[in-house]
Amino acid sequence: MQFETKAIQSTQLKDNTAGSVASPLYLSTTFERSADGSHPHGYVYSRAENPNRELLESAMAVLENGEKALAFSSGMAAVNALFQAFKPGDHILIPEDAYYTLILLTEEVFSQWGLEYNTIDMSDLGNVKAAIRPNTKMIWVETPSNPQLRIVDIEAVTKIAHQNNAICVVDNTWATPVLQNPLNLGADISMHATTKYIGGHSDVLSGVLVFKKEEELFAKIKLIQKLAGAVPSPFDCWLLTRGIKTLALRVREQTKSAQKIAEFLDNQPNVEKVYYPGLASHANHEVAKKQMADFGAMLSFNLKGTEQEALAFTGKVKLFTAATSLGGVESLIEHRKSIEGPNSISPPNLIRISVGLENADDLIEDLRNGLNQD
Ligand SMILES: *Cc1c(COP(=O)(O)O)cnc(C)c1O
Repeated sequence: MQFETKAIQSTQLKDNTAGSVASPLYLSTTFERSADGSHPHGYVYSRAENPNRELLESAMAVLENGEKALAFSSGMAAVNALFQAFKPGDHILIPEDAYYTLILLTEEVFSQWGLEYNTIDMSDLGNVKAAIRPNTKMIWVETPSNPQLRIVDIEAVTKIAHQNNAICVVDNTWATPVLQNPLNLGADISMHATTKYIGGHSDVLSGVLVFKKEEELFAKIKLIQKLAGAVPSPFDCWLLTRGIKTLALRVREQTKSAQKIAEFLDNQPNVEKVYYPGLASHANHEVAKKQMADFGAMLSFNLKGTEQEALAFTGKVKLFTAATSLGGVESLIEHRKSIEGPNSISPPNLIRISVGLENADDLIEDLRNGLNQD
């Protein structure tokens, strides 16, 4: 079956009561037990398992070609559960331009309980090899990265990880399973902030880990999910499985528009630099071409000018909402450094765009007007 068919088939929950076509929503926190103590339907309590969550998890496993998946109440809750599976004294490698909150979680929380880490520019494989230590247990990859759209060779980094008995985890939020499948390239876990493209409508917060194999690490994190309980609500899961049904259509259309917008910006005298892996001038365009079906709907650019001028530009466009986050049907624009904070390595004049489902020509006209204003 092709992706579009799998996306519909895998997100359908059978309703034996009424035969409803749309999936039923199971809000119940608890499930009936038989007199012999068994649970005839296999459900006990919603922190442990819920039909809507199971549907989301199995659908994400199907779309990423994994054996199992686990859903959490946010992308960061998914990361947190994964990090909790490591021991004090373990070492992990993360990209220097990883999603900013992930770096903060590592620094502010996990370094205090003894998890060691280095942040490196992972687009250069030499840096990865040089940073490996005997106690390195995981290499975290984010590609395309946020907000500089650096591209990391997933297959090559996975090889380095496995040669050193470490796992490779890829944050696949930006590419989505439509454009990139890290598990097919050898990675052990594909992580999604499903808050973004999977939900697709900026109205649900959640995260998913998809595991290539149903092995020890899966069991460990499933236990953390069940005991700690950072799970998405049944309605969150219902919205997400609905989002998956239109994922391929949305992402392909948004990507087409992003390519057009990137090419437009690349030719503007007021734009210093465009970050988009679909441009032949991108430093790792060839790696992106090799591992992605297309280049995604996120892009950044440096405005010629000061930090203040870049921040002001986000108010000059009318069709883009100035807000953080991404992956929704509406286009968003953001001055990245000011949202990330004082230790951000984002260039001060960098502006990030999440391309939505508006007409690309309208978006380009809006950007043109913004760029031509004083
Ligand atoms: C948003 C995002 C996250 C975190 O997800 P939340 O649902 O906000 O916790 C992680 N990684 C990337 C690349 C993201 O865009």
